[in-house]
Formats: sequence, C-alpha cells, structure tokens
Amino acid sequence: MQRNHKKAHWDVAIIGAGPAGAACAITLAQRGWRVLILDKQNTLRRKPGESLPPLAASLLGSLIGALNTDTLSVWGLAKTRGNISCWSSTEPDLADFFFNPQGHGLGIDRQCFDQQLLVKAQQEGAHLLRGTRLMECERRSANTTNSEDAEHWCLTLQGRLMQTQHTARYLVDASGRRSVLAKKLGVMRQSHDQLFAFCQRYTTTSADDDAFTRLEACPQGWWYSHVTPKTPGSDTWERSLVFHTDRDLLSAQQAATAEGFAALLAQCSYLPAQLSQLGYSASGKITGANAASERLSAFAGPGWLAVGDAAQAYDPLSSQGIGKALESGCEAGQRLHYALSESCNRQGAEHAQLTHYTTAQEQQWRLYQKQHRFYYEGQKRWPDHDFWHRRRSHSASSAQNTNSSRTAT
Ligand SMILES: Cc1cc2nc3c(=O)[nH]c(=O)nc-3n(C[C@H](O)[C@H](O)[C@H](O)COP(=O)(O)OP(=O)(O)OC[C@H]3O[C@@H](n4cnc5c(N)ncnc54)[C@H](O)[C@@H]3O)c2cc1C
Repeated sequence: MQRNHKKAHWDVAIIGAGPAGAACAITLAQRGWRVLILDKQNTLRRKPGESLPPLAASLLGSLIGALNTDTLSVWGLAKTRGNISCWSSTEPDLADFFFNPQGHGLGIDRQCFDQQLLVKAQQEGAHLLRGTRLMECERRSANTTNSEDAEHWCLTLQGRLMQTQHTARYLVDASGRRSVLAKKLGVMRQSHDQLFAFCQRYTTTSADDDAFTRLEACPQGWWYSHVTPKTPGSDTWERSLVFHTDRDLLSAQQAATAEGFAALLAQCSYLPAQLSQLGYSASGKITGANAASERLSAFAGPGWLAVGDAAQAYDPLSSQGIGKALESGCEAGQRLHYALSESCNRQGAEHAQLTHYTTAQEQQWRLYQKQHRFYYEGQKRWPDHDFWHRRRSHSASSAQNTNSSRTAT
C-alpha cells in the first residue's frame, strides 16, 4: 500500500457524507472554514427514508434556499399531504398537513437528495473525498506557543489507492449508525430495542399520484408505504414498502424471503388493496436495515462531536431521522464556527460550545423517548404478541450497550 506523506490541513474533517455530514459541511464552508468531508462509499447507495414532515421540510428550506416546482424535482423532492394510518384500529386515520402551520411535507428520492446536498456543500467550498475511510486519529498538542495551533488531530485516511495524512482542528462523526469515530475514541453506542426494517421496492406503469404516507400496524410489527418522487421523463412509478419487526422474532426470518414478505403483507387489511389497484409488482431484492432506537453514551468530547444517526438514531415511525440529521449538522457547524472564531480563548470556547451542543442533544433524546412511548402505547391491539408486549412493558428508556415524525397519527 502506498503512503502519501504530504499533509493537508483542515479546520474541520467530517466522517460520513450523508445528510448530517453535508449539512455540517455547508454550514461551516459558508462561514469560510476549510472543510473536508469523506465517505467510505465510492458512489451513493440507495438508502431507506422517503419522507420529510413539514418541520423538517422548512428546515431544509433554510439550509438550501426556497424551492420551486422545477428545483424540487432537481433535488428529487415532491410535496406530500400527510399520513393515513391504521395504527390503533383498522379504521384509517388521516393526519392532513393542510392543518400544519409549517405547510406541506416532502417525499424524497434519497440518492438524488443526498447527491444534491453534497453538490451544495462542494459549491460552498467543502472538499469531498469518496472511497475514503478514517484509519487512525490522534489528538496532539503542537510544539508551538501559537494558541491557534494548540491542539489538533492527526489523521490517517485510507483512499482507494493510497493512505494520506491530514490534520484537522475538529472532527465530526457523521458516519450514521456505525459511529466510527466515536467508537474509535471508546464511546459506547447504546441500543434500546431490536427494531429491524425489511424494504421491498414495487414498480408500476399506472400513474400513482398518492401524496400520503400510508401506515398499518399488524400483530408482528408495522408497515409503511410511500411513493418515490418520479424521475422526470420516466414512465414508471416506484413505491417503497417497509415492514418493521424485532430482529430476534420469527417474523424477521419470514420477512427476509420474498414468499414470507408477501405472506405477511397479505395479512394486512389496508395496504395490499392499494398496491393491486395500481398494478404494482415487487422489483429487486428485499433489503434489511437496522431501525432500532440508539444513542451514544456521549455526544461530544474534546475536539469532536457526533451528528445525525451517529449521535442518536430513531425508530422510522418518528419520520424524524433526516430532519434531525440536518438540524444537528447545522447546529454542530454553528457551534464549531463559534469555537474556531473565538481563538483567543480556544479551550474555554470549545468547552462551552460542546457543552451547549451536548445539552441540546440530551433534550432531543428525552423528547424522542416521550414521543416514542406515546405512539407505541397508543396501539393497544395484540397485547400478547411479543412485538407489542415488549413495547408496553419495556419502553425506549432501558438500554443495552453495544459496540457494534413518521408519527402514526
Ligand atoms: C427503514 C427506514 C426508514 C426510514 N424512513 C425515514 C423517513 O421516512 N424520514 C426520515 O426523515 N428518516 C427516515 N429514516 C432515517 C434516515 O434514513 C436517517 O436518519 C438518515 O439517513 C441519517 O442521516 P445521517 O447523515 O446521519 O446518516 P447516513 O445517511 O447513514 O450517512 C452516513 C454516511 O457515513 C458513511 N460512512 C459509514 N461508515 C464510514 C466510514 N467508516 N468512513 C467514512 N464514511 C462512512 C456512509 O457511507 C454514509 O454515507 C429511515 C430509516 C430507516 C432504517
């Protein structure tokens, strides 16, 4: 393996180029800081996450500017009108965004959306390295009396062809549920349940202009279905159907196969009818994704902080993951901007900013736990089924350490 010993110097290096990393990069680059953002993937991959509730949609507007009909489709976005859910009964319940003060929500084509966020970060001046992983990092005091350089990180990055050496004053963990930086620094990731998602795409050539997210609870867990914003010029409509259950239950084994997935879906009273009416058929393989409620034991430490799913990851029922990723990315960028600006008293400034950030993250986690309990406790059917029994007797507040609002109404 080749080693490149030429060092590059950054104010902030961000590990992970999802929405959280991109939002942090945009915020810092707009304020003139030297920002590196790196991602282990060479190209963007399909990820779950298809809808933004109105609050997150308005936050996005403040990050990237107002979107009109043309720019919405460039960003892989389409307006959504609300949620229709069979959550606490078989009777569909409508939550219409018309009555929401923030206005409409957004449906998302994730590949397109994540790509556009990174284009924006680069336009603002951030430097993107794809196919690159963080190998080593060490925080060092420089042999200098200049307080600007008092402490910095020395990084070894592994690219496609060679290792490179970099320095950065701050590091941001935006690596999603893997929390690669935090784990390297010995911070524990706590898992609060075993929720796992099984995702199957469906396609049709019949027009699907449904602007609602559809939800349905079932004895083994719950489902959602959402149409993907249509690619201009395409004559195919695509819909994601996602089943959530606990990883250790029999239903998880069943959902991993095409036959089992179809059999579980057939037991639903509401979602299958819409698919068959529009002539949808399954396309591609079923993919799995961790959907548990998780958090780090510490959201920040000397010279670093974690954003998005790397800091705290939510149950998809909340539909808050991307909004929270954007919000924490912007908040972290702002905090690091203050810490970098107040260089005459760097350690004091850093400590104050990271403490503010941690306090806000702790508050968000407590709010999330409260909402999580509220929605799961509101679904009172099937009390003897493991999935629901666990959620009533074992709320999101008890954690296991691991090192490894799609709101229903
Ligand atoms: C089934 C399901 C449905 C969901 N639905 C919704 C929804 O409808 N609405 C919503 O708002 N949210 C939803 N979410 C949550 C949402 O997808 C996440 O919260 C969001 O992607 C978090 O963004 P992020 O930037 O923190 O992390 P990610 O998007 O996971 O990005 C992390 C990045 O880090 C990179 N990375 C990982 N390891 C390394 C490494 N070692 N070195 C360098 N880079 C690395 C990855 O390649 C990735 O690009 C859903 C989640 C699931 C599982």
